[in-house]
Parts: sequence; structure tokens; C-alpha cells
Amino acid sequence: MGIPKNVARTACLLALLLAPANAASAKDGYRVFVSVDMEGVTGVVGPGQLSSAGAEYQRFRKFMTDEVLAAIAGARAAGATDFVVADGHGDMQNLLIEDLPADVVVVRGGPRPLGMMEGVERGRFDGAMLIGYHASASSLTGVRAHTFSSARLSEVRLNGAPASEGLVNAAIAAQFGVPIILASGDDAAMDELRPALGGAETVTVKRAAGYQATETLTPQQGQALIRAAAARAVAAIPTRAAPKAKGPVTIDLTFHAYRPAEILSWLPMVERTGARSVRFKASDPAAAMKFVDFALSYSVELEP
Ligand SMILES: [Zn+2]
Repeated sequence: MGIPKNVARTACLLALLLAPANAASAKDGYRVFVSVDMEGVTGVVGPGQLSSAGAEYQRFRKFMTDEVLAAIAGARAAGATDFVVADGHGDMQNLLIEDLPADVVVVRGGPRPLGMMEGVERGRFDGAMLIGYHASASSLTGVRAHTFSSARLSEVRLNGAPASEGLVNAAIAAQFGVPIILASGDDAAMDELRPALGGAETVTVKRAAGYQATETLTPQQGQALIRAAAARAVAAIPTRAAPKAKGPVTIDLTFHAYRPAEILSWLPMVERTGARSVRFKASDPAAAMKFVDFALSYSVELEP
């Protein structure tokens, strides 16, 4: 008896998802990983757009999705055929996945070990895009500037230097041989990231005028710029050298509160560097990210 058609199709999709990281693409075009945040999406300024309780959230999650669609369309026009999209904001369940093309694979929900970059380790990606990114907790000007948690962390440092999410995520991508080829967000985020991205395309969709204030393009214009830049970014892939795998890294976390630093420092691999600060020496950027995710997610009250 043959396998019913819908079961066969499901088995086929599962084979794609479970394929080894170095499996050849069925379509043999460029493979692109897209990590998406929300604070750096065109027009976003505050909780009204960023939280599911916000009055404008439903509209702005569509704009977030539309920026991903613009990046995919531009990339596809330049020869990309395979896309994995990681939803990286809040509970990481913001993208309207029914609006994405049928052949896109989505990473959603959390916590998850590699956070906003979960999936990049499954690799053979030719490039990664950071869409909707914001500036670091150490930025003086960015819209909703923070690193990984505005509620819990006042600073994150990577190898001693203040680090944005984009910077940490670029290091994770580099560990798996994937160059960042495009980043989008506000001007403060792009100014922080540009020096670390080795000639990647950057798209500034708004100017930070305050923590919750901006001079912004319209969504339509932001999406047009992202689409054009994504096409240029993919066309330039042959000119980009694959980044070299990084060795051990040091990650420093400064919490708003005293007790997370106190209790984490009871672990022998964690060093207390201040009343509210800890340091973890990680074997590589992915291990550093897992430490951050552990520090921000663990609670003995977790259920189930
Ligand atoms: Zn976010």
C-alpha cells in the first residue's frame, strides 16, 4: 500500500528539517539565514508596537513580517533559494508565518540555546541577515537600546568591549562559517554594527531621536530599501570570505539586580566581577550565548 499523498509530503518536509547540516540543497542556490528582531523595524518606538498587549502590536508584527518578506524577495531575485527565518523578539512568536513563502522554514518560540541565531548552526548557509535590529545597552542614542534583556541587563560585554545583540550574533554566525551580509535597523544600531561586518550591506530605516522617539521612513520605504539591499548583499556573496571560526570568548553580564550575579557566581565556572556583574569564559560564541540564555531563563519554578 502506498503512502497517502499528505503523509508523503510531511515525510519529505521532515527529511528537509532533519537533514544533516552539510546536506546539499535541493535547489542549489544560495542558502540564507534571517534573524529578525522588532525594535529596529521601521516606525517602531515603544511598547505599543512591541508587546502582544500593545494597541499597535498586530499592525507592527505585520510590518516586521513584511520586512522579512522584502529581504527574502530581494535575496531570491539575486539567486538565493533556501531560507531559514528565526523569530528573535520577545517570546519569539511574532512573525505571521502564514504570510511567508511556502518554502521558508521558521524558527520560533523559546527559550532556545542559540537565541536569535538558533538554526544557523545547522548550517551550510552562504550568508545571514539581521533584520529589525537595535543598538546595545551601552548605546547613548538608540531606539529601545538594550542587549538581550532591557528588564534585567544593564550591560553585556564580549571580549571586554560593550556588545550589541548584532555583534554577539555575528560572532555566533562566524563560528559556523557564515558571514553577515545585511543588517537593518536604526542609525545607532547600524553605526555600532558596521565596523564589525566587513562590508555587509546596512539599511538605516529610522534615526533615533530618543529611547522611544524616532524620525522614521514609512514601512513601504523601509521595505523597499531592505529589498534592494538584500539583492545587493546576495549578489556580493562570492566576494565575501567565509569568516574564520572564533576560539574562546569572554562574556560579561551586568544585571540591574544584585542577586542574579550573587547566585550565578556560586557556579565554579562563573566569576563575580562586581556587585551585579559576572564573567563567563566560554569555549566559543555559541557557548557564550547558551550562558546568557541560561542566566536570563533559568528558574527552579519552571513548569513543566
Ligand atoms: Zn527585540
